[in-house]
Amino acid sequence: MGDYTNVYAGQEAIEVLPWVLARVELLPADSVAHAKGPVLRAFLKPNEECGPRLVHAVPSGFITGTFMELDLFDDAELAQFCGTWGMIAAPYAGSIARMSARIVDPKTEETLLVKAYDASGAELPSRHRIDCERYGRDVWYAGLNGAPRDAAYGARLGGGNWMEAFNRDTTARGGEVLNAYHFAEGGGDRCALIYADEVRHALAIMRVAVLANGFYERAGGNIVHTFRLAVRHDDINEARCGRRPFEEALSLFMDTDFLHPRKEAYASKGVLDGVRESMMHERFRIIEENTMLFADLCLSSVPEPLVAHGGFRRGGLAKLRMPDVGGNARYGNLLQAMAAQLYAYLNDGNPWVVCEVCGRPFKYEQQLMSPITSETKARKEYQCRHRPTKTAFCSKRHEKEVYGPRNAESRRLMKALAKIRADATEESARNIMG
Ligand SMILES: [Zn+2]
Repeated sequence: MGDYTNVYAGQEAIEVLPWVLARVELLPADSVAHAKGPVLRAFLKPNEECGPRLVHAVPSGFITGTFMELDLFDDAELAQFCGTWGMIAAPYAGSIARMSARIVDPKTEETLLVKAYDASGAELPSRHRIDCERYGRDVWYAGLNGAPRDAAYGARLGGGNWMEAFNRDTTARGGEVLNAYHFAEGGGDRCALIYADEVRHALAIMRVAVLANGFYERAGGNIVHTFRLAVRHDDINEARCGRRPFEEALSLFMDTDFLHPRKEAYASKGVLDGVRESMMHERFRIIEENTMLFADLCLSSVPEPLVAHGGFRRGGLAKLRMPDVGGNARYGNLLQAMAAQLYAYLNDGNPWVVCEVCGRPFKYEQQLMSPITSETKARKEYQCRHRPTKTAFCSKRHEKEVYGPRNAESRRLMKALAKIRADATEESARNIMG
């Protein structure tokens, strides 16, 4: 894979810190003052000791199982996903660290606004006089300025990439304004407001990262074949559930026409193939660059994983360090755990397989369909060294689709056989007695 092939050779699991499991609800745009789109509200769901509930790990196969089932364009599904597995925010400009801090610490918003006012040489006024539009944005820009790695990646990617998706009034930058309003209007409870669009964009680029890399390795590095597998996968899913998961996610970041060539535009099939192939190579290069740097930012989002790793990057970018953001470094986050799982899968040397049911690339069947909330079980998960998979299904759910009915049938047969045997034994016993 061009630049990134051997950066991640020879290492498996990366353990990340547990993350906060918040209660998440979807709020329509018109129910949140000043909102420019639907909003997810994440708020603390305390455990018995009044601390935050934590998720310690995602189960094996999560990024190619449960995560792929999610309809990214259904906001209610996004809220449910985040409430089950962990809240999502942009792994960019410090958004994730601020989100976790807002959920666990009621003083966060005030502290951020004090700092923002302070930077412009002013003092935080009383709540109703806070300039939320200006200082909310300032909080976001301060987060970006405080993250040299993010800026370096932005420079490397140039314009027209996923980073721009977070620099909008309806995503991460606008979310800061919303949280400022929430505080100014009296809300001080432990909660974070995140635009559904921010969550969608972050998960979409992660989805493209998993699918594109999985298909690429499955296709043995042949780019035309990589996209053929992706289109076939979308065709299967469209027939199954009316969605094209790869193309839909990719379309948030680039024009996807190249996946469906309009043949009449070219004089002959030879020209078509040539043009299309070079376009595919170019598109794949862009996808690779964007997804690898995105995954790297996820992996490196505060705090750093517990195990040293080479990262998805190389060269000068590898030397950049995240800045110290102080007290927020206690928790990991779901995107980081997903990036760590992708990293492990790209590393472990086992082959990718394509699911017989959904056409998705996977490495290990997802058996456990819920998050891991025990530290001991998480340790086991991280220490597990996988063998190449023998199954043809990405998850237990898809295995059941094929073998479920057959299993039920064979269970009925076994029962009937057992009864016949029992009856026969009884009869022969009677015969002997008789
Ligand atoms: Zn499947």
